[in-house]
Amino acid sequence: MNALAVIKAAEQQLKERFQQMEEVAYQNQAKIIESFKEHRVREYHFNTTTGYGYGDDGRDLLESIYAHIFEAEDAIVRQQLVSGTHAISACLFGLLYPGDQLISIIGPPYDTLGNVIGKEVAARGTLIERGIKYSEVPLDLNGGPDFKAIAESVTDKTTMVLIQRSRGYTLRPALNIEQIKRLVLTVKERNQQTIVMVDNCYGEFTDTIEPIACGADIVAGSLIKNPGGGLAPSGGYIVGKKELINRIAYHITAPFLGKSLGASLANKRLFFQGLFLAPHVVLQSLKGACLFARIFEVMGYDVYPKWDEPRGDIVQAIKFDSPKEVLEFCQIIQNCSPVDSDVNLEYAAVPGYSRPIVMAAGTFVQGSSIELSCDAPFKEPYSVFLQGGLTYEHCRYAAHLLIQRFNGI
Ligand SMILES: *Cc1c(COP(=O)(O)O)cnc(C)c1O
Repeated sequence: MNALAVIKAAEQQLKERFQQMEEVAYQNQAKIIESFKEHRVREYHFNTTTGYGYGDDGRDLLESIYAHIFEAEDAIVRQQLVSGTHAISACLFGLLYPGDQLISIIGPPYDTLGNVIGKEVAARGTLIERGIKYSEVPLDLNGGPDFKAIAESVTDKTTMVLIQRSRGYTLRPALNIEQIKRLVLTVKERNQQTIVMVDNCYGEFTDTIEPIACGADIVAGSLIKNPGGGLAPSGGYIVGKKELINRIAYHITAPFLGKSLGASLANKRLFFQGLFLAPHVVLQSLKGACLFARIFEVMGYDVYPKWDEPRGDIVQAIKFDSPKEVLEFCQIIQNCSPVDSDVNLEYAAVPGYSRPIVMAAGTFVQGSSIELSCDAPFKEPYSVFLQGGLTYEHCRYAAHLLIQRFNGI
């Protein structure tokens, strides 16, 4: 079979799956249009502002819309948040005091957050160095949350628990909404006061329900992933309880300044329009992920998740035997990118990551992983973590080249 025939056969198989995902995208699209209508978005809301950024109505309106869509009391949506790690780190530093206890209840957190916490090296400025007590509850043997161990670990001294929705650089499945609900319930039953925080990176709009509606207190993510829709040029968001948002805003700017300051130097149309497009772009990524899963499964590789398994994020992991194959895979993704397509990739050190990592991201927005991109840390089992795709057609194009290489056609 030639590559196109392999793709067409996979698409035939995926038809029903695609329809289910289209329905989720439709519901999220409707939710967002209704929110824009209710908030009476106008062209002047897109304008840039300067200096202190007092009275930036568009910025405040965008935050109200985020709060509304994520069913939260309040939101921080800022271009000054430099990444997802920054948004999550701001929540941790804004809410935790020396002596407080933080537990990551679904195993180790994302690599960059391990460094923020100071898990391995409690360097100056990390949470542990500042006196925050940290522990982890490992996953169960199937790679899922260990509800019993979680219940036992949460006590009246637990200030906050951290839940990561996406798989990160592991082969465990992403959490689904039902699991997030049950995790919140498990923690709150033990201690009503414990703050439940969700790292929502890559999870937004993969379902019709978001973590705040599951009872989470605070949720954060990156605008150069799902909710930026591929248009947001930078930034992060945080949604949750008003009182918590206030404390985090005091940390991000300064006490008593909070959310009132912060000029919008970049045109805000990109943030509004990106959010408007986000459900559709997430759909493109999800369809692409299913296609990659199916074709690599057919070619005999282990894929996580499988094409017909539920998805709580946009990430597709594929396991290879060697770093050489991983590098070849990433190079193909790079070569079919609209930007920097001729760049040669290699494993290298990246700020915030302890291990060498290769990142294919020939993207319009630097490092944007809602655009078709792929990362692979230098560790066993050698796997690629593929995500994004602004158009399904781009994913299909990449699939074509990947089949030609990995099917030996
Ligand atoms: C991407 C990501 C982050 C944050 O990464 P940044 O590159 O700093 O935006 C955090 N957690 C998870 C699970 C992620 O996928």
